[in-house]
Amino acid sequence: MKTYIVKPGDTIHKVAYHHQIRPFDLLIFNPQLITDSDYIYPGDAINIPQVKQEKQQVRPSFEYEYGPVDLEYDVNELQRLYSRYMKTTTIGYSVMGKPIMMVKIGTGKKEVFYSGAWHANEWLTGKFLMMFLKQCLHHIATDEKWFAYDLRAIFKEVTLVIVPMVNPDGVELVQQGIYPDHPYFEEVLYINKGARRFDHWSSNIRGVDLNHQWPAGWDIEAKESPQEPWPRHYSGQAPLTEPEAKAIYNITNQHQFAYVLAFHSQGQVIYWGYRGYEPDESKEMVTKLSLASSYEPIHTADSDGGYKDWFIQETGRPGFTIEVGNGTNPLPLSAFSEIWSNNAKLALAGLCL
Ligand SMILES: [Zn+2]
Repeated sequence: MKTYIVKPGDTIHKVAYHHQIRPFDLLIFNPQLITDSDYIYPGDAINIPQVKQEKQQVRPSFEYEYGPVDLEYDVNELQRLYSRYMKTTTIGYSVMGKPIMMVKIGTGKKEVFYSGAWHANEWLTGKFLMMFLKQCLHHIATDEKWFAYDLRAIFKEVTLVIVPMVNPDGVELVQQGIYPDHPYFEEVLYINKGARRFDHWSSNIRGVDLNHQWPAGWDIEAKESPQEPWPRHYSGQAPLTEPEAKAIYNITNQHQFAYVLAFHSQGQVIYWGYRGYEPDESKEMVTKLSLASSYEPIHTADSDGGYKDWFIQETGRPGFTIEVGNGTNPLPLSAFSEIWSNNAKLALAGLCL
């Protein structure tokens, strides 16, 4: 038996994966843990059983929660491996000071923007974008086609800008919970009415919903939403008060994105309109995205204040919200295979709209 001290970002699935054992093995040898979705907190000591070689089970890499620690590691690793093809920038910092990372691939004039993990309990979208990035880089480097897409040729025409995780503090909260050393311990517990589970949390760490922060019908949305910091749907005291939203606002203004795709979960639908501000070509584009993914196009979500709403209103160019997966947020890890198979093709089609 070994002892392992829990680190920031750890979960039962992640620790089990890194020790090549099953989450179930951890539960057996740590009676304080009841289910594999229990939180484990930084500094906790947990027992790691030595499982016999033949019982060891190497788990596929997507079967654990994907958080800011994983993201930072993967981005740096990819940057090291594929420095010829990608460029990483930190575009800002979350409320708790985590970097908000942006990656660019391609040298084309047409700039396209993909973003994910806006909502804390929708972190599978961040995992998806990182896997998509990894596959794109692999196919560019080996000069192999991916689903008949010639990525080397495409990335001469297109520059893809990706921010895989807009809300790193919120993602970490959903995955690891809260503990007394956490800098927002009191505030978060107050917002959450004392409850210690955060599965329903979609806001940032201050209880502001980063996709309700945008100056496009913000007043209307704010009036109909919670009036104080809340696990979801609170629009903030004004548009763009939060550093995470501000970082996206700044880079959107610094680029000329031809269109944007914002990944959320869930529903298996694609929203493509905003109060009639969307251009004519949006309809043709959403048809292509729908054919690639089998997700259903829906004109509007009957809401305001979202990033794609603001993008459409502000620029007159197309914006899309992709609602990946089906079920209740946070979607279980097992939802990932559907998300991957439908959205890898959608995200490829998205390069060529
Ligand atoms: Zn969302």
